[in-house]
Amino acid sequence: MKFIFVTGGVMSGLGKGITSASIGLLLKSCGLRVTSIKIDPYLNCDAGTMSPYQHGEVFVLDDGTEVDMDLGNYERFLGESMSQANNITTGKVYKKVIEQERRGDYLGETVQIIPHVTDQIKADIHKVAQDTHADVVVIELGGTVGDIESMPFLEAVRQLRRELRKDSLVVHTTLVPVLKAVGEAKTKPTQHSVKELRAIGIQPDIIVARSEHPLSGDTCRKIGLFCDVAPEAVIGAPDARSIYEVPLILEQQGLTQLLSEQLQLGQQMPQLSEWNLFVERVTQPTHQVEIALVGKYTDLSDSYVSYEEALTHAGAALDAGVKIRWIESDLIQPDSLSGVDGIIVPVGFGSRGSDGKIEAICYARENNIPYLGICYGFQMAVIEFARNVLKLKNATSSEFDDQAEHQVVSLLPEQKEMEDLGGTMRLGLHSIVIRENSLANKLYCNPSIDERHRHRFEVNLDYVDQFESAGLIFSGRSEDGRRMEIAEYADHPYFIAAQFHPEFLSRPNQPRPLFLGLIHACLNEQSKSS
Ligand code: GLN
Repeated sequence: MKFIFVTGGVMSGLGKGITSASIGLLLKSCGLRVTSIKIDPYLNCDAGTMSPYQHGEVFVLDDGTEVDMDLGNYERFLGESMSQANNITTGKVYKKVIEQERRGDYLGETVQIIPHVTDQIKADIHKVAQDTHADVVVIELGGTVGDIESMPFLEAVRQLRRELRKDSLVVHTTLVPVLKAVGEAKTKPTQHSVKELRAIGIQPDIIVARSEHPLSGDTCRKIGLFCDVAPEAVIGAPDARSIYEVPLILEQQGLTQLLSEQLQLGQQMPQLSEWNLFVERVTQPTHQVEIALVGKYTDLSDSYVSYEEALTHAGAALDAGVKIRWIESDLIQPDSLSGVDGIIVPVGFGSRGSDGKIEAICYARENNIPYLGICYGFQMAVIEFARNVLKLKNATSSEFDDQAEHQVVSLLPEQKEMEDLGGTMRLGLHSIVIRENSLANKLYCNPSIDERHRHRFEVNLDYVDQFESAGLIFSGRSEDGRRMEIAEYADHPYFIAAQFHPEFLSRPNQPRPLFLGLIHACLNEQSKSS
């Protein structure tokens, strides 16, 4: 079993996650069994309680764990589902250590960061490796070398390197900026961050340097000399047309060969023809559609990463490039949506911005614009229909007003009893039964599906008959029939909304039906009007 540690230097946001996912993809394409671990040095036990403003999207796994969005990239690049064990956080590690201490497991010892916390980190990494029977485990260390929070993890990596020797290596990601005035690629930030890593006792084996343009031979030699790695082990990560192109760019510089030589994996040749075709369809599409995404955190597109990816996958399958028009729901104007081919209202929490979203849904419904509502966008579609078609004035969700007369979206009794906010939503994979002769059935071609969830509120069962007799059909329901999962409106080119999150299961070459249906409908409407 081999271990690849990916650390980050200079600053965050250099694509360490994409580099790790790309390494995983390249090795998996050689036929090796690969798994990934993301280490998040923050004190939260999971990402569930974190604001998307601070940390980007919260990604949800099959088992309901709420994790960092990098796990989403691993799933999309590896084409495999991860579990809670694939995400290690300081909160999780300390919780375990403290529980063990309270149980008396340490037999009177003084419990310390070294060795008790570092032992726990190493044990957690080994457990994933053993449980998944992986040939290679790629471990991405969140944060930047030098952060106080990452210290125990880096120390664990140092110890593991010593224990594993040739069965492990370290890839360090850095930045090579070019100063416009002199036009010269600057290697000093890389030198400094490697110096910092070496001060902790870790010598990188490969350096992946983010840069605007490909690195010159001179730059690679200079970094190699100062950082004590072979010049061929300095790999450039220049700007790419799509994140999916990154593994191909790294491979052109011989990354798989470097990894297999250093880890003694034998002669390895990644089979990338399908991936290549996918990248071609993403980067050179024949058609174009524009989708409005009416959200609350649109300043930071990281908040909606999985939507962007799901749209890219669906577009690629239909040879269409998808441009997103980001609309901040609070600031929506009468002409904000004019000219878009389709509209999405995504995940959301709280009442701020809900009116703008309801306005956008009304616009989509009345003007025959293809609409896909997800989770909050499903609940808002139900509220819009209640207000404007059923004429239930002030219909709302109990999330916004729990005294309102018409709470068409509300809490199920079991949710009312929950006291903690962390990890208590309805999370993860649940089955949905699909009604015959419905749009949902046509899209999924299956009477029963599984999708991932993350919500607390649900459609109030008292109103279901009223909705259905006015034309809003609940074509997907939970197995016990108590939860409405899909709503669709037939008198429209494409109006569908889901309580679940199909974006979390969308992958390259495996687009999710609701997104595929949306792009298909957009292209159909375009061809009608041309
Ligand atoms: N706030 C809503 C709920 O808790 C919707 C959540 C979401 O969009 N993921 O049910």
